[in-house]
Amino acid sequence: MNAVRLEIADAVWSPQTGLLEPAGGAAAALDVRGEAVAFGPAREIEQRFSGLPRKAGQGVLLPGLVDCHAHLECAALASKVPGGDGLGPWVSRLVQTRMPMTKGDLEAEALRAAKEMRALGTVAVADVCTLLATAPILGEAGLMGLSLLEVVGANEPAIAAALQDARLRSTTPCAAPEVIPVLVPHSAYGTMPGAFAQLKGQGGVRSVHAAEHEDENAWLERGEGPFAPFLLSKGAVPPRQRPLPFLDSLGALGSATLLVHLVTASDAELRMAADRGATAVLCPRSNLHIGGRLPDLRAIRAAGIPYVLGTDSLASTPDHDLLGEVAVLAEDFPDVPADELLEAATTRGAQVLGLTRHPWVRVARSRLGFLVPRTGAEA
Ligand SMILES: [Zn+2]
Repeated sequence: MNAVRLEIADAVWSPQTGLLEPAGGAAAALDVRGEAVAFGPAREIEQRFSGLPRKAGQGVLLPGLVDCHAHLECAALASKVPGGDGLGPWVSRLVQTRMPMTKGDLEAEALRAAKEMRALGTVAVADVCTLLATAPILGEAGLMGLSLLEVVGANEPAIAAALQDARLRSTTPCAAPEVIPVLVPHSAYGTMPGAFAQLKGQGGVRSVHAAEHEDENAWLERGEGPFAPFLLSKGAVPPRQRPLPFLDSLGALGSATLLVHLVTASDAELRMAADRGATAVLCPRSNLHIGGRLPDLRAIRAAGIPYVLGTDSLASTPDHDLLGEVAVLAEDFPDVPADELLEAATTRGAQVLGLTRHPWVRVARSRLGFLVPRTGAEA
C-alpha cells in the first residue's frame, strides 16, 4: 500500500531491526491502515517520501501493542482486590467486591480503561467478559481484536443459562467491525466439561485459563482446596486429572487455542500443548499479585510453545500497560532477548489474534527501558 503520512520520532523499533536510534532521528512512512510501508533514519525516509503530511515528536515508533488477555469488565475493581494468598481466596474477594456494583458501573469503568489502554499504545485486545458484551466498548475505544464471551457454570442448569446468555451477548449490535465476538470456556474448573463440545472449533477452544495456580490443581486432581466447597455444593465432580491433560481429553487444545497463564504446567504438559499447536498467553504481573509466582518462561520456550502477553484485569494488575508485562519478564529472565519479548507483545500477538491490519504507534522511550540499541545501530 502507498504511504499517506510520515511520523518522525527519536527512534524506531521492529522485530527485524531491533531498536534503531539514528543520530538525526527516525521516521516511519505509514499507509491508510496505519502500517509502516518504510522506516529508518529520518533523513532517508523524509527524502524518499517528501511532500507527505508529517507529524514530528519524541519517542519510539513501533507496531502497536497487542494485549492477548484482558478483562476490561473488571476495571471497576481496580486496586480493590488484594492478593498473595492464592487463586481461591482472590476469586472469593473479587466476587464479593463486585456484588454491589451495577452493570452500568462496570460498563463505565470498562470504557474508561479501554480508552486508557488505547492511549498507552495498545491497538488490539482479546478481552474476556462474563457479564458484559464488550465489543461495543472496544469499538468505541478504537481497539480491534476479540470480545471473548465467557461461559461459566458448575452444573447443567447453570451452564445452559450461561451459554444462552453468552449467545445473546454475542449478538449485541455494535459498530465495531474489527472486533469479533467468540464464545469461550473459563477454565477446566469454571466451565462444566459437557459445555466444551459447544465451545470448540476445529482448532480447539479459542481461549481458556489453564494451569494458573495450585488451587486449580487441588480441585481438578484431588477434589480439594479452596474451590472444593463451592464446586461440590453445585454438584461438580473433580476429573482427577491435571488441567492440561484434562482439557486435552475434552478436545479443547488446538492451533487456535490461547492457553492463558501456564504457571503450574509441567515440562511434559508444555510439550503436549506445543504438539497441539496452542499458544501461551503470559500475564506475569497478575500471577505475581495472586500467587507470587511467575510462569517459567525458560521451560515454555524450551517446549517450543509460541508465547504472547496479556495484562489480565485491573483486579490483579496495576494497569493495562502491556509494556509493564514485558518489563517484568525482561528483569526476571535476562537471558531472554528483550526484542523477543517485545515481539511477543506486538507482531506475534497480532498474528495470533488474526488481525487484518496492524497499525504503528508512538511510545515514550522511558517505557522501553528494557531495550538496548543493537551494536552499530546508533550510527
Ligand atoms: Zn483472566
